[in-house]
Amino acid sequence: MSFDAEARMQFLYTLRSRGVLDARVLAAMEKVDRGNFVRGIFADRAYEDMPLPIACGQTISQPSVVALMTQALDVHPRHKVLEVGTGSGYQAAILSHLARRVYTVDRHRRLVREAREVFEATGLTNITAFAADGSRGLPDQAPFDRILVAAASEDPPGPLLAELRVGGIMVLPVGQSDAVQTLIKVTRTAEGYDYEELRPVRFVPLLEGMGRD
Ligand code: SAH
Repeated sequence: MSFDAEARMQFLYTLRSRGVLDARVLAAMEKVDRGNFVRGIFADRAYEDMPLPIACGQTISQPSVVALMTQALDVHPRHKVLEVGTGSGYQAAILSHLARRVYTVDRHRRLVREAREVFEATGLTNITAFAADGSRGLPDQAPFDRILVAAASEDPPGPLLAELRVGGIMVLPVGQSDAVQTLIKVTRTAEGYDYEELRPVRFVPLLEGMGRD
C-alpha cells in the first residue's frame, strides 16, 4: 500500500465522516504519510482508521483521534507546541505542519530515536524530540501556546498546567488507565483554567520516570 491519490481520498473521507472539518487540519493529515510511522507487519494497515502497535509495547493513535485532538487544539502558525508521548512521531508530524515549532517527548529512548529518523528523512525540521518524562513538563522551553498529551492520567499534570501560556490550550485524555477515558480541553485564562469535556477515548497510561529502552 502507498499513500497514493486514492488512499489519500479515502483517508480524508473517513476523517470528515468522523467530524474532522477544519481545512488546515485536513491539509496536514493529507500531507503526512502515516505509512512512514508504522513498521513491520502492520505497515499495510497504516491507512485504516485504527490504532496500531509500535515498539516498546505502545500504540500509534487512530488517525481520526489524532485529527480530532489536533482540531480541538486550534494550532496557529506562530505557536510553540509541546506534545507529551511521541510514540511513532505521527502526531508530532501533523502538528509540525501547523505550528512554528514542536517539542515532543517520550519516556522510551528507542521511540524518540526512531521518530527522529523519520522526521529527518521526511524533512520535518521544526520538531525537537527529547527522551524525557513529560509528566514533569519541559521547563527549559516553557511556556507553550498549546500542549497535547497522548497518554492518560487521572488529572491534568500540574507542571503541564503551569507551562501553559495564558490564553493557551491543552488537550489530553483523563481517567483510569484501564477504562474508557475522557478527552478534555483545558484553556488557561487570566483568572485560572476552563475545562471542557470532548469525547470518550482510550489511551495508554502516562507513566512516571523513564522507560527501560
Ligand atoms: N502520539 C503518538 C502515540 C503516543 S502513545 C503517535 O502519534 O504515535 C503514548 C506514548 O506516551 C507512548 O509512546 C508512551 O511511551 C508515552 N508516555 C507515557 N508516559 C509518558 C511520560 N511520562 N512522558 C513521556 N512520554 C510518556
